[in-house]
Amino acid sequence: MNNDLNKLSEYFAKFPGIGNRQSKRFVYFILSRDEKFVKDFADTLLSVKKNTTQCSSCYRFYSSRVKTEESTCELCVDFDVNKEILMVVEKDVDLENVRKTGVFSGSFFVLGGSVPILDKKPAEKIRAKELFMAVQDRAKGGLKEVILALSVNPEGENTILYLTKILEPLAEKYSLKISTLGRGLSTGTELEYSDSDTLQNALKNRG
Ligand SMILES: [Zn+2]
Repeated sequence: MNNDLNKLSEYFAKFPGIGNRQSKRFVYFILSRDEKFVKDFADTLLSVKKNTTQCSSCYRFYSSRVKTEESTCELCVDFDVNKEILMVVEKDVDLENVRKTGVFSGSFFVLGGSVPILDKKPAEKIRAKELFMAVQDRAKGGLKEVILALSVNPEGENTILYLTKILEPLAEKYSLKISTLGRGLSTGTELEYSDSDTLQNALKNRG
């Protein structure tokens, strides 16, 4: 590979779950397409970045073409959303999948990651402080329950322990219930891939 190809390959290799071999396949795929495809692709990349913004309330990415007040997304200002329940998820794709299944009508918060076991600076890995503020804010507006819908793996469990500790004072002060998804989600299952039946069970069996 020449320098340009290597550079492009290095970009693809930065993507989650993409290794060197796959990133090279992407490069050769792009080379095999015509100029229009590549131009559209590049334009789309720029346009997505330009027209997407992060919600100041739930931290999900949303189209900034949707005009709402106070830079919050359309979900955060939607009256049909049940404001008594807040689901905390690791990433945007989890939120998108939960919404797609249609089994949850509450509001969301995107944590932005999880906390590795024995991590020395957990607060830098996730939006812990922001979550505290959001829960405090919403508790005054009628929030009753926070569901920690994190991955079913040791890192997810670790994150749940960490967040439970952080939210404890608020839970006490506002009589909030802090729950986790039931084990309808089997070990290693990612929220991102759960179907509506699995998710419905996990919600029903939450505790
Ligand atoms: Zn939002």
